[in-house]
Amino acid sequence: MSAQFTIPKTQTAWFYKPGSNALHKRTIPVPTPPPGSVLLRIDAAGVCHSDLHILHGGIPYNSEFIPGHEIAGTVVALGSSVDPNQFPVGSRYAVHSQNACGLCGLCRSGHDNICQAKTRLQIGLGHPGGYEEYTALPIRNLIRIPDNVPTEVAAVATDAVLTPYHALKKANINGSTRLLVLGLGGLGINAVQIAKAWGAHVTAMDPRAEACELALKSGADAALQKFPPRSLNFDVVADFAGVKSSFEMAQKHVRHLGTILTVGMGANITEYQNTKMSYKEMTTIGSLGGTTQDLAECLEMISKGVIKPQIEENKLNDVNDVLHRLDKGQATARLVLKASL
Ligand SMILES: [Zn+2]
Ligand SMILES: [Zn+2]
Repeated sequence: MSAQFTIPKTQTAWFYKPGSNALHKRTIPVPTPPPGSVLLRIDAAGVCHSDLHILHGGIPYNSEFIPGHEIAGTVVALGSSVDPNQFPVGSRYAVHSQNACGLCGLCRSGHDNICQAKTRLQIGLGHPGGYEEYTALPIRNLIRIPDNVPTEVAAVATDAVLTPYHALKKANINGSTRLLVLGLGGLGINAVQIAKAWGAHVTAMDPRAEACELALKSGADAALQKFPPRSLNFDVVADFAGVKSSFEMAQKHVRHLGTILTVGMGANITEYQNTKMSYKEMTTIGSLGGTTQDLAECLEMISKGVIKPQIEENKLNDVNDVLHRLDKGQATARLVLKASL
């Protein structure tokens, strides 16, 4: 017999309001899952820099929604047509936040991280996200969490691990790669671990001393707070900041025929140094999130103990304080919100 859960009628949710730089608390109904969806109790939701970009107006949204795109939780009810053997009540899932259609050309060719369905809203970026207690989600977005992976860690796997994993995979990082990880936030620090697991020589760069220390603890071969004047000639530079100065550094420190991975989206516009691009014959690869298959692979890596994402648990109701700390650069682990604390 499957587990039984008492589902409340209402729940606490934190809303983004256009023009306000804090989230607003509301009591809203717990949704009934439509056909093909489940009701997920959100056990953990990771906090991402993208949430700050939204609050600061860098990613413009005209209507209210519940942010939070790093979600993991427990299935507590099934919509009609969901097979209880495939999605048993009581089982735990990580959520692929792209909310992909599964039917468009890009989804069908294995690129469901960049689904082209016109009506698609990303979970936590338009579609209701993780800063609430329960959410109804189509089953296509759910990836089973291995038994030995804590739910909080699975939550951050959906972006803070998935995004660097997908990017590094695109650049074929391997045992002969000399990699520079530029920017050691929540994603960059996991990039260090993933690249080390794949045998690369990893140099990490971040102006913050404590971030460099953490990178070395995470296995980086070297950590720099600033660059020397000469080019360091890396095979691959992964730019996790995505601002004008970081992209400039990436172009300087990549070798001839090297590759720049653009992952961070700190600025909408950065600048190519046109002649440098030509002289070095460098390649630039864009990367967004990761696929559902990548997410399953990330959870597998965590389950095997190959990578150990660092998290810090906080109360869901402290979300504004937590966002403030992230904004001030005071987070040394991925911050996770839990309604149960
Ligand atoms: Zn994110
Ligand atoms: Zn699609």
